[in-house]
Amino acid sequence: MEIEYNCILIREGEIFLKGKNRNQFEKQLLNNIKFKLKNYEYLINTSRNRLYIESFKTSYINDIVDELKTVFGIHSISRCIKIKTDLENIFSLCSSIMPTKGTFRVSVKRADKSIKYTSIELAKEIGGKILLQNPGNSVDLENFEYELIIDIRENGYTYIYFEKIPGGGGLPVGSSNKGLVLLSGGIDSPVAAIMMSKRGMKVEAIHFHSYPFTGELALKKVRDLCKIISKYNLGIKLHIVKFTEIQQEIYKRCPKEFLITIMRRFMMRIAEKISLLNNLNCIITGESLGQVASQTIEGITSTDMVLSSLPVLRPLIAYDKTDTIVLANKFNTFNLSILPYEDCCTVFLPDNPSIHPNIFEVEKAEIGLCIESLVQNAIETIEIEKY
Ligand code: ATP
Ligand code: MG
Repeated sequence: MEIEYNCILIREGEIFLKGKNRNQFEKQLLNNIKFKLKNYEYLINTSRNRLYIESFKTSYINDIVDELKTVFGIHSISRCIKIKTDLENIFSLCSSIMPTKGTFRVSVKRADKSIKYTSIELAKEIGGKILLQNPGNSVDLENFEYELIIDIRENGYTYIYFEKIPGGGGLPVGSSNKGLVLLSGGIDSPVAAIMMSKRGMKVEAIHFHSYPFTGELALKKVRDLCKIISKYNLGIKLHIVKFTEIQQEIYKRCPKEFLITIMRRFMMRIAEKISLLNNLNCIITGESLGQVASQTIEGITSTDMVLSSLPVLRPLIAYDKTDTIVLANKFNTFNLSILPYEDCCTVFLPDNPSIHPNIFEVEKAEIGLCIESLVQNAIETIEIEKY
């Protein structure tokens, strides 16, 4: 039997740990939910670490729940039946929604202390009535197939449900500043972007591409990744930088061993300028210590040295590739990320990149370049797209 749920119960995540500024986080969460559900009609109200969505067209309930699964700041979601608190009604409803076969337990939460039973007494009473109506069922408090939860609130209403669907956790996007993620088409950087979204950060993305060395399909992949990140980040702006001229200049004028380091320094310079122009407060990358030649402490030091005012966040710095892949699958970016299109970094990859670049040598290697004008040219030709 298909149960007709008339309410969606949302439990807040980490927000409940917040002190004085908790209101702000709750307001942000509410706004984000409204943004996600802008195509639906419904009512929403909040009460003590929870939000309730009601008065929606019941056939949309699963679509609404799917939208909520990508809203950070939510601990869990339950589809429930909301009824006025009345014991007779609760008894008969519980018996009627129970599957006819299987093991179950009943759990009662009783915030409304005017009810004459204790939670345990009531659970036993309801369990007994269910068994009378559904003799094919049996109670098993430990290894149950169904847990029927009866949540009797102080507001005169009771919420009855079977499931707690995990939400995204974390903090609502928009509650922790803004960042610019360096987005390649690889596995790591989309995961880094969504991890920062989970900590409440609003992100924009910057992608460097080297047409004609990297093609339209590589760019399409980045756009498609942005569409996924956008679900978690409630929209995302993508800055596309033409990087070919810079790469060719580096290739012509610098020692091959430093190509990657110098290239990455240009990415950082451009990223910092774009961040400052767009009021973004940090730069995010998908780097992980020791994963490739440029991701050593010396490599990181020599890229970060070009920055004058912004920090670089590397949420994956201590992650193994396998841990990142678990997240890429969870966030649904993995299948796109593994499509085999060249990235600008791989096009000009030297045979022997310097693994421990010395900052003085790197600076010397850059002497033949007109850094300012290369950066300026690249910034002037940036194209912006919104997803
Ligand atoms: P990813 O899986 O994110 O591509 P990676 O392990 O392949 O990472 P690198 O290619 O060395 O490592 O890149 C390190 C980081 O630099 C990436 O995580 C990303 O943040 C950034 N990056 C690399 N290539 C680009 C690009 N073409 N455009 C924007 N950012 C890039
Ligand atoms: Mg890469």
